[in-house]
Amino acid sequence: MDKNILESDVLIIGGGPAGSIAAASLAQKGYSVNIIEKVAFPRFVIGESLLPRCSDLLFKNGMLEAVAAQGYMVKHGAAFERNGVFEKYDFSENIGQEYGSTYQVKREEFDHILLKEAVRYGAKLYEETEVTSYDVDSVTATAKDKDGNELVFRAKFAIDASGYGRVFPKLLGLDEPSELRTRDAIFTRLTGDTRPTDGTDGYIYIYIHGNNDAWIWTIPFSDGVTSVGIVCTDEYFNSYNMDNEQFWNTIIEATPEASKRFKNSKKIAPVGKIDGYSANVSAMHGKNFCMVGNATEFLDPVFSSGVTLALESGDRAAMLIDKQLRGETVDWAEEYVGYMMKGINVFREFVNAWYDGRLHDIFFHPQKKNLIKRSISSLLGGYVWDDKNLFVRNHDTAINATLSMLPKNNKANK
Ligand SMILES: Cc1cc2nc3c(=O)[nH]c(=O)nc-3n(C[C@H](O)[C@H](O)[C@H](O)COP(=O)(O)OP(=O)(O)OC[C@H]3O[C@@H](n4cnc5c(N)ncnc54)[C@H](O)[C@@H]3O)c2cc1C
Repeated sequence: MDKNILESDVLIIGGGPAGSIAAASLAQKGYSVNIIEKVAFPRFVIGESLLPRCSDLLFKNGMLEAVAAQGYMVKHGAAFERNGVFEKYDFSENIGQEYGSTYQVKREEFDHILLKEAVRYGAKLYEETEVTSYDVDSVTATAKDKDGNELVFRAKFAIDASGYGRVFPKLLGLDEPSELRTRDAIFTRLTGDTRPTDGTDGYIYIYIHGNNDAWIWTIPFSDGVTSVGIVCTDEYFNSYNMDNEQFWNTIIEATPEASKRFKNSKKIAPVGKIDGYSANVSAMHGKNFCMVGNATEFLDPVFSSGVTLALESGDRAAMLIDKQLRGETVDWAEEYVGYMMKGINVFREFVNAWYDGRLHDIFFHPQKKNLIKRSISSLLGGYVWDDKNLFVRNHDTAINATLSMLPKNNKANK
């Protein structure tokens, strides 16, 4: 054994939610795990609204207690607003899932908690260490620490959980453009917004701007701070010819219900912008490696599915790596890719139907049946693998079928 090589059973690139849950799971199963993380935590990352499905996964991996102890804002549901009409989904009114609520979290805090949990379970963390190259055959990653020293990590299996860093997609030539349109998010944090008083103050509120030109996320935290972001196409943003702050102010002002909510608020962070964040890969696994979380496919922020899919894929990968390292055969195409794509494709249908407006016509239709509402609630909770749900079972046809069954003479409020 070469003393200069840092050996472990599994090496994980990235200490976000996907990497941390995989590390915690594998460490608890008795494997040695090295996590290589580019920056020092806490670090900011976008994406602060969780889904109830996260709680199943965090509980399964012994991480929920630490999260629940933080006093985060409890998120009981999601509300959508169009032209003054609000449609609210309470996660507990689902089709039989265990968790009917979740949390709104500042990711710099939440991700740090998860990473500390992974370390508590025995994973070894190398912070401020950036992976710069990877050799597939020898399962070896080369990295640079903050002092410029080169570190070499070798393992039996490697997980790329590098999120927006997309280490394996870039190093192994697996990057693929997303089929989704390029969209921008223009976001800030503020205090002093007027929160609802009907028990939905912990909900994520989504305000639809104009003629479905943009939508606005409103994510309230328990310390009185609220995250507010506008999502629209690149062309729409550019058509205003404004800087981030001017654009943010203009869109909020021109969206009556959002404008009411933020009238007396004060921004406490500069208005930032992220664009072109949707991404895809040509493969999610290869010889003794796999990719999890945002290092694979990232769809769109509208249903807050990112952390849920990161946790789901990290948990799933850890389970399969355990199986493989115990000498059993793993069918990665079926057991990993097939499983993950089932959930991702359910969200994809919803994302597409959100942007082309079909989903609005269902959400805001006053006469939809209770089962439809509960099924949507379950899906918005992140339960996208439950075949009891018609939107999961028939994910490619259920939206159009539902629309065709809704009474036409009382079309969704426009
Ligand atoms: C506008 C927008 C809004 C969003 N809103 C939500 C939301 O409300 N809810 C939600 O669930 N999701 C949301 N998301 C998605 C969410 O941001 C991601 O899905 C989530 O962060 C993915 O987690 P991850 O663990 O895969 O990656 P990350 O959280 O990105 O973690 C990856 C880690 O890898 C490290 N890394 C990168 N490169 C290297 C390297 N070379 N070497 C070592 N380490 C490296 C990084 O420093 C980072 O800490 C949103 C996304 C966008 C774009």
